[in-house]
Amino acid sequence: MALVNEHFLKLPNNYLFADVAKKVNAFKVSHPAANPISLGIGDVTLPLCHAVTEAMHKAVDEMATKDGFRGYGPEQGYMFLREAIVKNDFLPRGIHFEPSEIFVNDGAKSDTGNIQELVRWDNSIGVTDPIYPVYIDSNAMIGRAGEMKDGRWSNVVYMPCTAENGFVPQVPERRVDIIYLCYPNNPTGTTISKDGLREWVDYALQNDTLIFYDAAYEAYIQNPDIPHSIYEIKGAKKVAIEFHSYSKTAGFTGVRCGYTVVPKEVTASALDGRRVSLNQLWYRRQCTKFNGTSYISQRAAEATYSPEGKRQVKESIAYYMDNARTIRTTLASLGLDVFGGEDAPYVWLKVPDGEGSWRFFESMLYNAHVVCTPGAGFGPSGEGYVRLTAFGTHEDCAEAMDRLRKWV
Ligand SMILES: *Cc1c(COP(=O)(O)O)cnc(C)c1O
Repeated sequence: MALVNEHFLKLPNNYLFADVAKKVNAFKVSHPAANPISLGIGDVTLPLCHAVTEAMHKAVDEMATKDGFRGYGPEQGYMFLREAIVKNDFLPRGIHFEPSEIFVNDGAKSDTGNIQELVRWDNSIGVTDPIYPVYIDSNAMIGRAGEMKDGRWSNVVYMPCTAENGFVPQVPERRVDIIYLCYPNNPTGTTISKDGLREWVDYALQNDTLIFYDAAYEAYIQNPDIPHSIYEIKGAKKVAIEFHSYSKTAGFTGVRCGYTVVPKEVTASALDGRRVSLNQLWYRRQCTKFNGTSYISQRAAEATYSPEGKRQVKESIAYYMDNARTIRTTLASLGLDVFGGEDAPYVWLKVPDGEGSWRFFESMLYNAHVVCTPGAGFGPSGEGYVRLTAFGTHEDCAEAMDRLRKWV
């Protein structure tokens, strides 16, 4: 008899976006003439840029030749890509890495979910709340999150991010072994300043805490003072592992490529007190469980660093950020409290009059025919907020704003 991993049974069944889709479908059935616009999508919509598709075509053609064919590549990623990452994403910010500290992957979701395998099951974890669900759920699956009671996991330290604290939580009063941070943040669209991030790195250095830093949206940062990487903070190489993705940066949600930085200096303790290099552990783990990202995807990622690639990627981001500005300024002009959307493709709207976020989601759908994502779906502190995304077309975004203006 095979016994299931019981920790899976503790996971909530409902999946946020499936619940949203169900409610939107119910609306469409009862209002067949209405044409709701979605500002709920968390996926990019613009096609891949030319520099990227050109590199992919070239890679495909190479694969069709005897000399150019590639089978299994290096588990850690091809050197051409890891060198381009070191040279373009870190060197210009004064951060030095060796290619052996970069691990190319098939997107940040895999590694943000898998990284917790490197640490014992009984470590404590702290998360900003609301949060990208992968961090908690991947810990819950191996039992580290404890039991689910009233929408909270018993072994997770929730660090509320609200308008009151500017969506950057205070460092916890007690020691936490592992902290997940994501800035620019999904879902709130807010960022952290260098000083704010320094407090976290100092906390980690003092408490021997490991930080998992998700930088999936760093390419959306407009303000030159906002840090793009936790390694801009002195000492971070000792305590932080960082995740990057080409998904939101260059529209790779369907191509699949990202990377994880595991510095040589970052260590965790063995029970006998020995310090163990996480770079070596992660390398060992990847060699066993991962056979690399496709050559074609890695050539595509490399192309985002060519001069044309950089320019074209910037254009797509500027397009989405135009939408973010439209959403933010329209809602603010209607007297609503809005956050984020300046350095991220998400706008976080405070629901007026203390209405619940699912109630507000339904009223927006039924009265304005606009779809948002209820904040409560991202964690307890998301209650009372909804998320709007900038990933649609300019036309849809403008039409959605017209509808909201008429409704509010
Ligand atoms: C979209 C997203 C990712 C990236 O996922 P991929 O697997 O690279 O597509 C990572 N973290 C957050 C917070 C995200 O929203």
